[in-house]
Amino acid sequence: MNIYWEKDIETMSRADINKFQLERLKQTISRAAQSTYYGNLFKQQGITANSVNHVSDINKIPFTTKEDLRGHFPYGFLAVEKKEVVRLHSSSGTTGNPTVIFHNHHDLDAWANLVARSMFAAGARDTDVFQNIAGYGLFTGGLGFQYGAEKLGMLSIPAGAGNSKRQIKLMQDYGTTVVHTIPSYVPHLFDVFGEHNIDPRTETDLRILFIGAEPHTEEARLRIQDMLGVKAFNSYGLSEMNGPGVAFECQYQQGMHLWEDSFLIEIINPQTLEPVAEGEVGELVLTTLNRRANPILRYRTRDLTRLIPGTCTCGRTHKRVDRMKGRSDDMFIIRGCNVFPMQIEKVLMQIPEVGNNYIIVLENNNDVDELIIEVEAKEGIFLDNLAKLERLTRQITTEIKNEVLVTPKVKLVEPNSIPKCEGKAIRVNDLRNQF
Ligand code: AMP
Ligand code: ZN
Repeated sequence: MNIYWEKDIETMSRADINKFQLERLKQTISRAAQSTYYGNLFKQQGITANSVNHVSDINKIPFTTKEDLRGHFPYGFLAVEKKEVVRLHSSSGTTGNPTVIFHNHHDLDAWANLVARSMFAAGARDTDVFQNIAGYGLFTGGLGFQYGAEKLGMLSIPAGAGNSKRQIKLMQDYGTTVVHTIPSYVPHLFDVFGEHNIDPRTETDLRILFIGAEPHTEEARLRIQDMLGVKAFNSYGLSEMNGPGVAFECQYQQGMHLWEDSFLIEIINPQTLEPVAEGEVGELVLTTLNRRANPILRYRTRDLTRLIPGTCTCGRTHKRVDRMKGRSDDMFIIRGCNVFPMQIEKVLMQIPEVGNNYIIVLENNNDVDELIIEVEAKEGIFLDNLAKLERLTRQITTEIKNEVLVTPKVKLVEPNSIPKCEGKAIRVNDLRNQF
């Protein structure tokens, strides 16, 4: 059985990848020079396509940050005439200008092809029925997956986000086999299955789940697989690099292949900005190699990951990145310790009595920083048995202390008592230094 969408590209030798990337990098520099932002930058620094003779010469080009994109909103990075552009997506900004990316027809086709390639690698085929539980709007997970799934040839249901009862009905009416959603939605969906006395493992045809857009641990993946009786595949993307289709797991679920015909990968130390040694964790920096309307060079994603050494059993040669360890900007420091929310999730998800929802609250009480973890107990867990409750609270406290070196205050709460968020889950609520 053919396991590749585009065998020639997916299994290219390293020498060919380097050659291919160099050619595309040169093209990208020439195209980017047409935008106001890169046009000025390249002129100042004397950069042309001839400045790079090897892919490693990319370090002659400065990094691009989210602030640069926002600072030149909306058209500063546009490298083609406006009339050539056919769509934009934008990522929700915290304050100020959003980040906007423009696409022409070529870009949209190339993007859909990457998503199709990614889904095919996980085992999705044109005989599958695909249900996309994602917001269809400026968020890239809606249209991005939709066009990719159509390109692959699946019957694609643009279900949109929310309304779990309706999602379940769609699954049953059309025999959905493949779903895309964010990982934090799955426990909720699972509960709604339960409320309707439907067992998703035996009373649906679900077999493949794509989960992405937010960080999650291997432990959370295993739970999700178990709940729905599916294989869950990690999918990584960001709007600045189109959206979904940047890096996906293949059938072996051993890290995500990052499509090197379309993106050039660097992993840097976010403090020194120097490359880290192969296999070490650092910040992922990406360059678009096949985008025309809105090329971006050396984009600092802020996502922390590492390259997985060695080759993958599937035969694809494109490098694999490990699941995201967090962001270089979501790390928090408490009592002198650097803590990543994912470290805490990892501990919680390994404890069977712990439910699926938690929130980390950082407070300052009488000048002492406190790490408070509110966590839901699993359904049916002895919240009324004081001794057992205390023992479990103590266990969680010790295990988190061992992991992050700070003793947390753990509050076990009833299942479903932590408010769920619309969209991506907010895991850290930092109430320190608020005026
Ligand atoms: P947006 O551009 O709004 O879609 O957000 C992109 C960001 O979502 C990325 O930079 C990551 O921080 C996060 N993200 C996307 N996919 C994943 C994933 N599979 N695992 C962890 N974080 C992810
Ligand atoms: Zn593979």
